[in-house]
Amino acid sequence: NVRVRFAPSPTGPLHIGGVRTALFNYLFAKKHQGTFILRIEDTDQNRYVEGAEQYIVDSLNWCGIPFNEGPGKNEKFGPYRQSERKHLYKKYAEQLIVSGDAYYAFDTAEILDFHRKDHEEKGKTFIYNWHNRLKLSNSLSLSAKETKAKLDAGDEYVIRFKSPQDETLHLKDIIRGDIQIDTNILDDKVLFKSDGMPTYHLANIVDDHLMEISHVIRGEEWLPSLALHYQLYKAFGWKAPEFAHLPLILKPTGTGKLSKRDGDKMGFPVFPLQWEDPLTHDISRGYKEDGYFPEAMINFLAFLGWNPGTEQEIFSLDELINAFDLERVNKSGARFDPEKIKWFNHHYMQEQNDMELAEAFVAQYNQLTDIDINYAALVVGLVKERATFISDLWELSFYFFQAPKTYDKKAVQKAFNEDTPELMLELVTIIQTVNDFTVANLQTDIKAWITDKNIGFGKVMMPLRLALVGALQGPDVFEIMFMIGKIETVERIENILN
Ligand code: GLU
Repeated sequence: NVRVRFAPSPTGPLHIGGVRTALFNYLFAKKHQGTFILRIEDTDQNRYVEGAEQYIVDSLNWCGIPFNEGPGKNEKFGPYRQSERKHLYKKYAEQLIVSGDAYYAFDTAEILDFHRKDHEEKGKTFIYNWHNRLKLSNSLSLSAKETKAKLDAGDEYVIRFKSPQDETLHLKDIIRGDIQIDTNILDDKVLFKSDGMPTYHLANIVDDHLMEISHVIRGEEWLPSLALHYQLYKAFGWKAPEFAHLPLILKPTGTGKLSKRDGDKMGFPVFPLQWEDPLTHDISRGYKEDGYFPEAMINFLAFLGWNPGTEQEIFSLDELINAFDLERVNKSGARFDPEKIKWFNHHYMQEQNDMELAEAFVAQYNQLTDIDINYAALVVGLVKERATFISDLWELSFYFFQAPKTYDKKAVQKAFNEDTPELMLELVTIIQTVNDFTVANLQTDIKAWITDKNIGFGKVMMPLRLALVGALQGPDVFEIMFMIGKIETVERIENILN
């Protein structure tokens, strides 16, 4: 019974890396008819950011990867916000004290700082573990009576995990295989604080256990915590879930981890949706507002660290679910290529329904308010092949809605010579006589006339196109004439001659 969770901390907007983690969890859950859970890890109230949780939910929904269980949804294992579960963790911390796997520590921040600096000066690293713990103030170095006295006096404390000396831990990761860790390098991590709040480590393990999580799929930055998590499961006597740590997402240059600032610097979003910082009101760009389709985003993210082992690149969400496999996730970092997501977007643009595209297109431009939507949809169908975004459509198609105001200078040089005006006037008379103004009739009549005159097609088609479009681009000229109609076609040809 596969149960996986996406467990973000609501400390800001969801970064693209977080969406990738959510997606891989989602794909894995769906592939195995399992459950995808959203758990909000908000035990660190100092870092809590207003609106971040809603942003996470909105982002998952926009991407089309909604959760099955989570805040406000199928709460059978709830609540799903750790702040609403805080009463639950203390007894687990105490259980570890009783079993001897954890202990109280009373050291002040100043003392710990002093030790850290002192070690640093000697070129060493201070590790709070078997090496140092007896020199410090905790229930292992103090007598039971002294410890009790401190607790009774209400002294501030933390509960630390007691990591063992001289042991080798054998950890398993689905993506990385077997990992060995020497416990002597581990520090006694804080599990619980006297303000009644658990740390990430304790809350995370307790919740994964209580929520019956079968697989933990998360970013590589959590790999260093795996040793502690393994030991916690063992100390509690619980079966550990399986773990899979996803590779880092690297900057477009391939060096270093992708950061929020890379997007600002290089002009691409790193957030799925636009985010307004509640304090500074700074706006960060989002893929949605930049005109990306969720399908493109999902397809792109799936390839950040995973590949199907075939040449196929275009995958619908259902196809991804079918093909996805944690064994095919890479260990090495995945380079983030903002050009690639554009490539996907161009592909999914072609798959969109023309009418829906037209509605979004028309809504973006005041000039189009009075346009017949069926006409706009036909236009979209003619030009979208060259568009990556809906916002490209205007530049590609404005001449279907209004006459060109300028003509590309180089194109004029190329298309016009002294014979052109006369030819164009003759062309106008041909166009005037096309009775049933269809693409086929236009084609037949104009082509016949050109053949008859025994001149090259370019001599007519280039200046004609220029008159209609203002440049030597665009779809089939006969289609354009048909779309704008006879009167407008003639007018445009006469315009360019004046
Ligand atoms: N709250 C952690 C985060 O923000 C969760 C890490 C995990 O999945 O264990 O990513």
